[in-house]
Amino acid sequence: MTPAHAFALTPEQRRMVEETRSLARDVLAPIAEGGDPGRVNRTLVGALAEHGLLPRLFPASAGGSREDDRISALELCLLREALAMESTEAETALALQGLGAYPILLSGSPEQVRRWIPPVAGGAAVPAFALTEPEHGSDAGALELAAEPDGDGWRLTGQKAFISNAPEADVYTLFARTTPDSGPKGVTAFVVPGDAAGLSGTSIELIAPHPIGRLELDGVRVSGEDVLGDVDGGFRVAMRTLDLFRPSVGAFAVGMAQAALDAAVAHAGARRAFGRPLREFQAVSHALAEMATRTQAARLLVYAAASTYDADPEDGAVTRASAMAKLAATEAAQWVVDRAVQIHGARALERGHLLEHLYREVRAPRIYEGTTEIQREIVARELYR
Ligand SMILES: Cc1cc2nc3c(=O)[nH]c(=O)nc-3n(C[C@H](O)[C@H](O)[C@H](O)COP(=O)(O)OP(=O)(O)OC[C@H]3O[C@@H](n4cnc5c(N)ncnc54)[C@H](O)[C@@H]3O)c2cc1C
Repeated sequence: MTPAHAFALTPEQRRMVEETRSLARDVLAPIAEGGDPGRVNRTLVGALAEHGLLPRLFPASAGGSREDDRISALELCLLREALAMESTEAETALALQGLGAYPILLSGSPEQVRRWIPPVAGGAAVPAFALTEPEHGSDAGALELAAEPDGDGWRLTGQKAFISNAPEADVYTLFARTTPDSGPKGVTAFVVPGDAAGLSGTSIELIAPHPIGRLELDGVRVSGEDVLGDVDGGFRVAMRTLDLFRPSVGAFAVGMAQAALDAAVAHAGARRAFGRPLREFQAVSHALAEMATRTQAARLLVYAAASTYDADPEDGAVTRASAMAKLAATEAAQWVVDRAVQIHGARALERGHLLEHLYREVRAPRIYEGTTEIQREIVARELYR
């Protein structure tokens, strides 16, 4: 492969992106619009399964459609980018099925995988990844939700906050403290069914509708069979999933940036002021050029990080590449969407306009799965390693 083609997509990958975009535009976006904003849209999740997208995330041996045992990071990025260009709701629903279920797929026992992955892959069950707590976000290793020994198992007591798909999820990968005062080394991952006795929750409304909420655990009973991976090894369970998903948060951002750029290019070509199209004002055309350049630079960083992961998930270069990709893409997308709003003028702010939607939607990815500042911390630490 020559360097010039290092990140050119294959014809097959390009076809997959185009097919995913058409499906999102023609089928998924209308279903997404019919949902209840800020709540899990089970019809949409069902449609993602019915049209073959959800099964692509999971191996055939666990109810999916893959021959290999996990999705490649690059394929995940291409799917998320393509969906984001047409329907952020469909993108998010797909991503959350993966984020909630991958800890079980990557670290679960055969029995846990058999019980939970087929319904998630088939769109019948909705999973969630429950790490963040009201007092511990970036510093997740300090989490406090207590797992207290109880016979051959534990009782879970405490709170989670800002958990996507909560409180409606059917199954939670939930991180709790099994060993006090030991930071990330005392955290264990558990599989907790959504209807477990003692588990309750409430929804949280965000600036852009997203199914998300708080959880309250009041002595929820879990057994040794509900442990994911090893006792006190929960942080590794979380990180194995986040390593795979982090570049794809960047891909979501790139998809939104591309949608904003496409809208701005069309608008600047059609809208006239002072007797000419906006695109003939250099202030506008240079803004478009910069938007296109930053979007493409972000895309290449994302593809590079995903490819690094696919070559070897344990490669030390993965951490730095993923952090850079997530940081650069989410920051670039915010900037690009803001410029697109400016080029559109007032109409972009009208409720229901694509850019009004993207302007609200693009904000959260700079915060979740590690804030921009935390990504910089990671990159800086890697520079001195
Ligand atoms: C839409 C959305 C979906 C989410 N989904 C999930 C989910 O499914 N599961 C889940 O577990 N969580 C989820 N979260 C929570 C998310 O992961 C946290 O919000 C995130 O980790 C940041 O934590 P925090 O909000 O508590 O901010 P804090 O950690 O309190 O940080 C506040 C500010 O301080 C900065 N800061 C903190 N530490 C440092 C440092 N060392 N150096 C420099 N700056 C620092 C941060 O960058 C930030 O700017 C979601 C959040 C959102 C918005």
